[in-house]
Amino acid sequence: MPAPNMIPAPALNLPAIAVPCPACKSRAGELCTSHGGTRDRRSDVHQARTARARAEGLLA
Ligand SMILES: [Zn+2]
Repeated sequence: MPAPNMIPAPALNLPAIAVPCPACKSRAGELCTSHGGTRDRRSDVHQARTARARAEGLLA
């Protein structure tokens, strides 16, 4: 088993990662989590986080 931080997480490349997530309370620079924080969302982020990034001008 590779260490968790060696697993690719495309979501880290999303602009929304630069803001905290209003949905799951993850901090800026960290992945969104699901299932009460027990599971990282590696391929995407919550819609609310994307909306926040857009509101802050981080998305085109
Ligand atoms: Zn989230």
